[in-house]
Amino acid sequence: MNSKPPQQTAAPPVEPSAEEKSAPKGIQLLRGMKDILPEDAPYWDQVTDTVRSIAAAYGFQRIETPVLEETNLFIRSVGKETDIVEKEMFSFADQSGDNVSLRPENTAGVARAYLEHGMVSLPQPVKLFYLGPFFRHNRPQAGRYRQFFQIGFEVIGEAHPIIDAQLILLAYALYRDLDLSISLQVNSVGHPDCRREYEKALVDFYRTRKNELCEDCKRRLQRNPLRLLDCKVEHCRELAADAPQIVDYLCDADRQHFMQLLEYLDSLELPYTLNPRIVRGLDYYSRTAFEIWPQEGEPGSQQELGGGGRYDYLIETLGGRPTPAAGFACGIERTVLLLKERQQAPPSPKQLDVFIAQLGDQARKKCLKLFEELRREGFSVGESLSKSGIKQQLEIANRRRARYAMILGQKELVDGTILLRDMENGIQEVVDFQKTALELRKRLERQKPNGLIPPPA
Ligand code: AMP
Repeated sequence: MNSKPPQQTAAPPVEPSAEEKSAPKGIQLLRGMKDILPEDAPYWDQVTDTVRSIAAAYGFQRIETPVLEETNLFIRSVGKETDIVEKEMFSFADQSGDNVSLRPENTAGVARAYLEHGMVSLPQPVKLFYLGPFFRHNRPQAGRYRQFFQIGFEVIGEAHPIIDAQLILLAYALYRDLDLSISLQVNSVGHPDCRREYEKALVDFYRTRKNELCEDCKRRLQRNPLRLLDCKVEHCRELAADAPQIVDYLCDADRQHFMQLLEYLDSLELPYTLNPRIVRGLDYYSRTAFEIWPQEGEPGSQQELGGGGRYDYLIETLGGRPTPAAGFACGIERTVLLLKERQQAPPSPKQLDVFIAQLGDQARKKCLKLFEELRREGFSVGESLSKSGIKQQLEIANRRRARYAMILGQKELVDGTILLRDMENGIQEVVDFQKTALELRKRLERQKPNGLIPPPA
């Protein structure tokens, strides 16, 4: 049933020794893992908000599949002879003895879900996007982690090259909306049959140069010759420049598909580069292959930001009927790294409508409720209810860019009022405590030139 996964058996939980119990060592982050701290959160939100808005504009619906899948899914789709499956998956036998893996990528998971939920009977193509954590046990370095986040877009059920062009446009638009300039590297890897002939030519080319290859490439030559082309070692890169190019091996149908794609890209005036070394190296790719790189010559990470292409045979490989498809995925960490390296300021936090400040325990209790009432009325509200000093609370209100502050002290409690302070000019007015929402709304609306409609950007 299950073919053999990279084996690791689930060990029973280990009881800490007496020594460990008495002198607990500081527990640290696992190697290759990364905490995403609050100071980075605005960058992450910027990326994910942009992804969501692009996805909605282009008609993609969200899908989330489990992080744990049957190991066979990845063996069959990504391919047994790839680095990912061979070396990088977190695989183990679970308590029931099933061979499972933490997902190293998501095209396979989305394709499984498409089949399992009968999405083939929906109007085609089905356009899905996802956003979540992935796991690869590789050597950690800046921009490469063992848990990382990807955003991905998949279009399943359509072979037309306009889909490929639109996906590439979408990737471009995503980075343009983030104010990041990128370079698009485009190629075609053809039908698996054309590729077999090409692989033979590649092996012939490299066989005479085998001694010059790095150790990894020597292995690739035996198992996955396409991957020789995207080795990062300098001398291997030099050799790859003279290697045969796959476009010369494309059959007529594949060549025509590729030409049509390039025509669409030209008509969009997208700045793409034809790059015969973009091969992606996973078994499921066919025809279009592309990568998204940071713009050359500009400061920033040199690692690729994302990649994708067509996978017309994947659904079939997983047991479905022939279903062409295409997609791409980008890493969030590398995108955030690039935003920071290009010294883009994180988007400033949203301005608060009002900050609630209080003096004394009675007032604190009333403000606990007032906060929730105003929030439900639709205002953005700030507070620091555990603090006691008004000065300190108003400083926090300033830091959080509150438009107004409401101050409830002893006198206001007795009078059934509250102070409403304009944080820009410091002018304070006394308003009826029962009418806080009304009074606040009146003032906020007065500040907008056309009532509730915000001014044009
Ligand atoms: P891939 O699935 O290998 O084509 O990766 C697509 C994108 O995911 C890459 O371009 C990276 O941005 C990101 N990515 C892949 N592996 C890692 C990793 N180990 N750490 C951080 N980001 C990664």
